[in-house]
Amino acid sequence: MNRSVRFLHFLSLIFLSALAVVSVLPSFRLVAGEDPHAEKRKAMVERDLKGRGIKDTKVLDVMGRIPRHLFVPGPQREKAYADHPLPIGEGQTISQPYVVALMSEALRLKPSDRVLEIGTGSGYQAAVLAEIVREVYSIEIIKSLAETAGKRLKEMGYRNVEVRFGDGYAGWEEKAPFDAIMITAAANHIPPALITQLKEGGRLILPLGSTAFHQTLTVVRKEKGELKVEQMDPVAFVPMTGGAEKGTGEKPRQKGK
Ligand code: SAH
Repeated sequence: MNRSVRFLHFLSLIFLSALAVVSVLPSFRLVAGEDPHAEKRKAMVERDLKGRGIKDTKVLDVMGRIPRHLFVPGPQREKAYADHPLPIGEGQTISQPYVVALMSEALRLKPSDRVLEIGTGSGYQAAVLAEIVREVYSIEIIKSLAETAGKRLKEMGYRNVEVRFGDGYAGWEEKAPFDAIMITAAANHIPPALITQLKEGGRLILPLGSTAFHQTLTVVRKEKGELKVEQMDPVAFVPMTGGAEKGTGEKPRQKGK
């Protein structure tokens, strides 16, 4: 091959590569801009959140953006925007969208807040919190779930969430005090360490109840050292394990004993 033929060869190669890039680009953009779950997510916000009384615009906005389907196992993805909990492995569940919204709204979060979550699960609730507040600390007692959720949140670009494997019953002393605490597993009493780690004026929310199937969403406010308790909706959460199963606090004494 002489020099000019080789040069022509080179030119045509450049031309063909450029053509390939140009023809691929628009279709890539189309794929990237098209979210097959966008419609379902919009319907979830309208029907199951706004339609059921959620008013916090920040919560509505955030839940309208976060790709909830990426927090559930593949076979569950089609059902990710339906208003019920879904299995996430290890016998645990991701809470239904309405309950995630209700609990997030009840904490009356501010952008400057530092929040502790007990029960990372899939990491979805942590992501919702992370979009609203400054810092989120989340503890998960099942190692595989803690690892998966931590990795997922990192890959999705959340820099203000820290996930730790451990028993949330003891809270996260090194990071305390918190402006708000959310417990996403059911307990029959409020873990005392969490009350200690809550800031004065702070709020804590948990599914409080003595049975495995029914609890009452309960908000506790710490005011001048005292606890103000407000009961909300009936809910059904998976139980809080670890220390929560042992430290059942004071049992009411029966008369005559
Ligand atoms: N917030 C989660 C769902 C919570 S399911 C989400 O958005 O997907 C409840 C989770 O609490 C389960 O993953 C369970 O393993 C965890 N859990 C139960 N007891 C716990 C404890 N003592 N400390 C930390 N996590 C606990």
